[in-house]
Amino acid sequence: MTIKTSYTYKYPRPMATADALIFREAGKELEVLLIKRGHFPFKGKWALPGGYMDMDERLIKTAERELFEETGVHGIPLTFFRMYETPGRDPRGRTITGIYFGVAKPDNYELRSRDDAADAAWCRIDNLPELSFDHKLIIHDALTWYQKKIQNGKSIIIGPGDALIVVDVQNDFCPGGALAVSDGDKVVSPLNTVMSLFDNIFMTRDWHPHNHCSFSTTPEYIDGSWPFHCVADTDGASFHPDLIVPKRAVISGKAFLAEKEEYSDFDQTGRFRKALLERGIDRVFIGGLATDYCIKFTTLDALKEGFCAIVLTDAVRGVDIPPGNAQKAINNMLEAGACLASTGELIRL
Ligand SMILES: [Zn+2]
Repeated sequence: MTIKTSYTYKYPRPMATADALIFREAGKELEVLLIKRGHFPFKGKWALPGGYMDMDERLIKTAERELFEETGVHGIPLTFFRMYETPGRDPRGRTITGIYFGVAKPDNYELRSRDDAADAAWCRIDNLPELSFDHKLIIHDALTWYQKKIQNGKSIIIGPGDALIVVDVQNDFCPGGALAVSDGDKVVSPLNTVMSLFDNIFMTRDWHPHNHCSFSTTPEYIDGSWPFHCVADTDGASFHPDLIVPKRAVISGKAFLAEKEEYSDFDQTGRFRKALLERGIDRVFIGGLATDYCIKFTTLDALKEGFCAIVLTDAVRGVDIPPGNAQKAINNMLEAGACLASTGELIRL
């Protein structure tokens, strides 16, 4: 049978895979996460977790997905390392693979092998089993690079495909403001520190009309019942005075229609998604206010749109009403596929 489509050529084309290379420091030992292959080729041999890219998937999401499917590990920010494409490296055919690396915290993770992996294990780097494909070479290359470049725990490398999203760091959400989040101003310093690492910065702000639907004279401080806050062009809606607003930052207002609440800049028009895609962004780093509302919805929407979303834990604060609501939001984001990191882990090489 011949399948005719406008983009099908008559000659064979290469395939794309992604592999996740996860290091873990265990005392003085360095370990790498491996799986035992359950199928052809190299059945019964060890390999990096990885697999084929889906048609509509960003390659970094392939690495995240395969890592989770084959080992149960998730929530570790992955950074692109290198492509491997030597002809003959994969017996299934000409295959190009993108290697994404990350560093696990010492105490995690409980492994569970699933999908097409028969087993999963942390293996000492100085005592590796026999490996499939060109994975021995890949681990060797990555190890050399890791030992040279990664210092002081800074293992998340920021590059041109990354964007920082600074959410609603406005006076009304900071101490003294109309809808103050406890310690809301504490997000300013870590955000200012990492801004210089990013080529792409997006800053959102609540930009309400005076008769916005969420406003109440007897606010309950929950969704749909807030005090008057962030009315467009007022002091309360201005960015915190200490927040750096770089010239290259793209600033946008949200929830500017009286009848509509918006906790995220990803709206139905697809404008924000398009702006990110036009810049080649595949990872978004999210910080600002508040964890249990605009941070949560921005993160969940970014994930839905196919981006990797990394929440900067030291650069967010929550409304936290009732108490525990902010932690609940963090758990929701993790379950949806978000990663957590602190700004101190970010570096630009
Ligand atoms: Zn609002």
